[in-house]
This record gives sequence, structure tokens and C-alpha cells, in this order.
Amino acid sequence: QSKADGGNTFHLFSTKMDHHVKETVALEAELRNAIEHDQLELFYQPQIDLRTNEIVGAEALLRWNRPDYGVVAPNVFLGTAEEVGLILPIGEWVIFAACQQAKKWMDMGLETPRIAVNISPTQFRKQNVPQLLKDALVSCSLPADKLEIEITENIVLHGSDATVRDLREIREMGIAISIDDFGTGYSSLAYLSRYSVDCLKIDRCFTRDMMTDPNNTVIIKAIVGLGKSLDLSIIAEGVETREQAEYLKDAGCEMAQGYLFGKPVPAEDFARLLEEQSSNLQGHSQQRALAG
Ligand code: C2E
Ligand code: MG
Ligand code: MG
Ligand code: MG
Repeated sequence: QSKADGGNTFHLFSTKMDHHVKETVALEAELRNAIEHDQLELFYQPQIDLRTNEIVGAEALLRWNRPDYGVVAPNVFLGTAEEVGLILPIGEWVIFAACQQAKKWMDMGLETPRIAVNISPTQFRKQNVPQLLKDALVSCSLPADKLEIEITENIVLHGSDATVRDLREIREMGIAISIDDFGTGYSSLAYLSRYSVDCLKIDRCFTRDMMTDPNNTVIIKAIVGLGKSLDLSIIAEGVETREQAEYLKDAGCEMAQGYLFGKPVPAEDFARLLEEQSSNLQGHSQQRALAG
């Protein structure tokens, strides 16, 4: 009996493994194809200054226009991309595409905010990220202060002295560094003094329930306080309601990102947002000039 059970269990397990391997192999082939056939696209989500309501940044978020499937979200394929090593060419593509886009907006005469790209910890372990960023800035003639990278606390967990050096080099180039999903990692806070960073992104899990769960408002206030005393900027992710935005502003959080202000959109749509903003601002200053 027990032998038979064992046999069964093994059978089920190996079938599952088999399935996983087959899926991974299929997805890998399609992802390779996606890179070659221009199926990857960056969407851009506005980051807002809560005091002025102006767009002060844009996060570049990866999308895969998969034939017969439509637009696929990054969480669906980045895991496999990590597993099979494709995260490296994809990550490189993301950096160059974001820099190219930012330069394009500048050349169109748009008031272009800083563009933030997400960088996987694997890239830091396996690639020379400072060099990649430098190459992208040079080849696109993009000023470094138009670029920001988002890394997670995991990078610190697995981080080596080389990572510390890389981050310092990146910051010395004038590129800003944000800690993404702040408050959800397992690392100690000690890294905040060891790793030179510029900004903390309060994870969506805290903003999501803040109006109903008082513990989350306590955590948000603590993160804002921590950020202020370390001279870091703070941005809240996943802001969906006016109420949340008001609360965050009162708590001293300077910036926000979320569906309330805008979902991630294709580059052309984001350019339109920038155009609207600058014509609104011009309108205001003309009104002021007329009034004065
Ligand atoms: P993230 O970097 O924390 O990005 C924020 C995610 O929250 C995005 O999901 C965004 O669409 C979503 N979001 C923003 N505002 C709201 C809101 O108000 N409500 C809700 N429900 N969601 C909101 P997305 O685009 O699906 O990306 C998921 C994750 O995939 C990202 O989380 C990031 O970790 C990763 N990712 C995306 N693009 C890249 C990339 O180019 N490279 C790497 N390495 N990772 C990426
Ligand atoms: Mg991010
Ligand atoms: Mg995040
Ligand atoms: Mg996240």
C-alpha cells in the first residue's frame, strides 16, 4: 500500500515537473522570438508631485505584445526569463528603449520627466550594469539626470561588495536610484546607509489598505519619517483614490503613482499627457501675466 502510494506520488510529481519544463521551454522559445521580432514594448506610468499635481517622473513597465494572446503583463513571463537567462537581453533592451524614448520626447520639445527603469537583481550579478547604463546614455545622448533605476531590497540580500560599488558608480554618474516595493523585503534597514540611494517607493500593499487598516497608516508614517531623516524622497505606489492621495500628502509623502493619476500607457499616449501638462502650465502663466 505505502509503496503504491509512493509510486503514485512520484508519478504525480514527475508529471508536474514535466509540465513545468515543457511550459518553460515553450515560453523560452517564444520569448526569444519576441525579442527578435520587436514584440516587447514599454508602457509609461506617470509619477506625480502631490503638492503641484505635476508629472515629475515616469516608470517604464514592460509589456509583451504576444500574437494571438494580446498584451501580456511582465509577471507572466519575467519569472521564466529569469530562469532561462533571457532576463539579460530583455533587461538590456529595456534600458536602451527607455533612454531612446526619453531622448525622443526631449527632441520633440516636451518637458520630459525622469524615466525610471526596473532592474532585476540578476542583472547586477551577471552584467556590468553601470557600463550598460553609461553606453545607453551615450548612444542616446541622454542626460544622466533623466534616468532613474528601480531595484528591490533583494539586491541587498544577495548583494556583494561589487553591488555596493556598482550602485555608487551609478549614482556618481548622476542616475537616481530608488528602492522598489519598499517594506516588503527581508533585509535589515542597515543597507540604507551602506547603499547610496535616493528614493523609497512605498509598496502598494501598504497604500492599498491604508484607509481601512490603521496599522498600514502607521507603517506609511514610519517610512516617510525614515525617509525624511535619511534625506531620501518618498513615493507611494498604487494610489487609486483621492482619499489616499490626500492622506499621503498630509503624512508628508511627496510623490505618488497609481491608477488615480494614470495607468501605464504606450509612449504616444504618455507624450500626449506631457503635451497637455505643458499647455495647461502655459495657460496658467499666461493668466498670471494677464492678471499681473
Ligand atoms: P513594480 O515595479 O512594483 O511596478 C508597479 C506595478 O504596479 C505595475 O505592474 C503597475 O502597472 C502596477 N500599478 C501601478 N499603479 C497601480 C494601481 O493604482 N493599482 C494597481 N492595482 N496596480 C498598479 P506591472 O506593469 O504589471 O509590473 C509588475 C512588475 O513587473 C513590476 O512591479 C516590476 O517588478 C516588474 N517589471 C515590470 N517591467 C519590468 C522591467 O522592464 N524589468 C524588470 N526587471 N522588471 C519589470
Ligand atoms: Mg518598479
Ligand atoms: Mg513597486
Ligand atoms: Mg511590485
